[in-house]
Amino acid sequence: MTDVAVIGAGSMGLAAAYHLLKAGHRVTLFEADSVAGGMAAHFDFGGLSLERFYHFVCKADRPTFELMDELGIGQAMRWRPTSMGYFYEGELHPWGDPVSLLRFPHLDIVSKLRYGAQMFTSTKRSDWKKLDRIAADDWVRAWGGERVWSVLWEKLFTLKFFEHSHDISAAWLWTRIKRVGTSRRSLMQEELGYIEGGSETLVRALVDRITAMGGEIRLGCPVGEVHVEEGAVTGVTAGGERRPFGAVISTVPLPLVPRMIPGLPADAKAGYAAQRNIGVVCVIHKLRRAVTRNFWLNINDRRMAVPGIVEFSNLRPLGADHIVYVPYYMPVTNPSFARDDEAFISESFGYLRTINPELTEDDRLDSAVGRLKHAQPVCPPGFLDSLPPVVSAVRGLQIADTSVYYPEDRGISESVRIAREMAERVA
Ligand SMILES: Cc1cc2nc3c(=O)[nH]c(=O)nc-3n(C[C@H](O)[C@H](O)[C@H](O)COP(=O)(O)OP(=O)(O)OC[C@H]3O[C@@H](n4cnc5c(N)ncnc54)[C@H](O)[C@@H]3O)c2cc1C
Repeated sequence: MTDVAVIGAGSMGLAAAYHLLKAGHRVTLFEADSVAGGMAAHFDFGGLSLERFYHFVCKADRPTFELMDELGIGQAMRWRPTSMGYFYEGELHPWGDPVSLLRFPHLDIVSKLRYGAQMFTSTKRSDWKKLDRIAADDWVRAWGGERVWSVLWEKLFTLKFFEHSHDISAAWLWTRIKRVGTSRRSLMQEELGYIEGGSETLVRALVDRITAMGGEIRLGCPVGEVHVEEGAVTGVTAGGERRPFGAVISTVPLPLVPRMIPGLPADAKAGYAAQRNIGVVCVIHKLRRAVTRNFWLNINDRRMAVPGIVEFSNLRPLGADHIVYVPYYMPVTNPSFARDDEAFISESFGYLRTINPELTEDDRLDSAVGRLKHAQPVCPPGFLDSLPPVVSAVRGLQIADTSVYYPEDRGISESVRIAREMAERVA
């Protein structure tokens, strides 16, 4: 039995703590925030408990289902037929199935067939090592041609990754296409999932189980330093108190690691410091009426600085309320990131009115803003070689965040899968 410190009570840290306790270890979980859940945490939105950031589930998310079954909440999974749309220069088009593609008026038939072939083969493909070496935009152009890139993808990339948009690996894009593309009822019908009660249902079940098994969860208690002596981890300092531990699992964003663990070898610290992330300012509107009937709406419109909106209540019914997330992704060095919440709220509501001119100011019941500095790892070509290993050079110390499961994109399912692997490695 080992005394283990887990740093971060997001889905990865919580799942790691649970699996460690199951294996008979003693666990203390340190979380900087005042609530558990990390990116999957909820907040009180005028009486409605809601994710700060939208969360949907795909059929490929097996580790999530296994964990939910173990925790006795497997019956909380819900599946719904969902639809996508594409708002292209002022017009709303159906999207996400072969007929919509064929009817889309802004591409010629050859481009459509080439794009369709890339989407279809992506859902069948499993080898990805070659794609790790290729830039996503080159991969899209190679299959679909220049027009497919400029009409369908360029704006989505520019408004998410900004100066990094030509520096994203094709492997990362491929896994995103595959995960959503295989979550279908049929060729014509997408089907996505959500957890009844939101991701909070999973977070709460983990917190309750950890507590019942004797684990200690310290909220509002950021770890200031992980101590390393003679090549082995010896303890952590959190909330001003130094405590000894035989093993440490860190789940905080990799760029924060060098500062938190000064005793790491210099080359390892350089590896963590080199990891780049995109931030997000995510506006949530509670509305009296729907904007569209789509769950996901891609946007390519010169009047709007977002690549899409997520009309969450078209997946998870929330009574009479219509909930729409408008995520502004950007590097945190972008001056726009510093704009105040009100600026984002009024601008994004203006976008919703552009999409659906029937919306009036009276239809906006409430709005909130969630911000994250490390919301999305930037995975350039060759990312696999630049990723620091989860098992660090320091004995007893494992380090992961959402980038370590590359080429998979950040997701609860992958975070809980990695958590289990890390817990199993603790001797
Ligand atoms: C806008 C957005 C939309 C998303 N949509 C989906 C989706 O639809 N489906 C899906 O599956 N996933 C989605 N995700 C991703 C999903 O939320 C994450 O992959 C998952 O929650 C990551 O969990 P984690 O524990 O690995 O990291 P995190 O949740 O980031 O947890 C890390 C924790 O470490 C804590 N921490 C940081 N520093 C310290 C410190 N010094 N001491 C102690 N604690 C510290 C942080 O406060 C945080 O709680 C989305 C994410 C975002 C941002």
